[in-house]
Amino acid sequence: MNAKKINIAIDGYSSCGKSTLAKQLAKALGYIYVDSGSMYRAIALYAIRNGLVKNGKVDAKRLIEELPNIDISFQYDNYSDKIYTCLNNENVEDEIRNNIAVSEIVSKISQIPEVRQKLHHIQQRIAQNKGVVMDGRDIGSVVLPDAELKIFMTADKKIRAQRRFEELKKKGVNITLQEVLDNLEKRDYDDTHRKVNPLTQPQDAKILDNSNLTPQEQLQLALQWAKEKIKENEVEC
Ligand code: C5P
Repeated sequence: MNAKKINIAIDGYSSCGKSTLAKQLAKALGYIYVDSGSMYRAIALYAIRNGLVKNGKVDAKRLIEELPNIDISFQYDNYSDKIYTCLNNENVEDEIRNNIAVSEIVSKISQIPEVRQKLHHIQQRIAQNKGVVMDGRDIGSVVLPDAELKIFMTADKKIRAQRRFEELKKKGVNITLQEVLDNLEKRDYDDTHRKVNPLTQPQDAKILDNSNLTPQEQLQLALQWAKEKIKENEVEC
């Protein structure tokens, strides 16, 4: 029997635990975890740092010109067992997560087709040898349409905002629950209404609503789906 690895695409709304599940699944299966949102966040950070964002507007023309100078990569740290997003070889993991300016502008950055194209190439290259769990908004629909398992995650908006608020509070970020909810609603709206690769639910995706599930329960469910797909894949080979 051929134990061929599969690819797993996880998409869904903002702050519904996609990365928590993707990390857990990757660890349980011995797969590589790829957070595609962190790539858009890193480009947003580049734009902010280089004065390409003014009054909430992105200078898309200049950003497109700058794209060849932007290198996004990941580094694995053995000590902490964590993966860090790097922007031109600088570890920017904390800044892209905790800087509210990044969260506020990232869904505008992700509307730029050239930005998406650049990141799609990187994402597809990483996944070409299978054994990848990738989360985002367009992974099952555009980046990895042939992924053997697609999961679409959702959860009640207020529960998502509360979880994110607590996460940020623990990190010492000064923000109110209402601000978190506003940002989340705005990003959901932008992500589902943009012209290029909007967030949609792939027809062949399994739906996972984790409003009332613990991280452990959602992992059990997703792991069961993954094992079924891996088995089907072995039979087909
Ligand atoms: O997943 P995260 O919330 O960190 O993603 C940040 C933003 O990046 C999203 O709000 C969305 O605008 C964009 N994104 C995207 N396509 C992906 C992943 C993220 O457009 N595959």
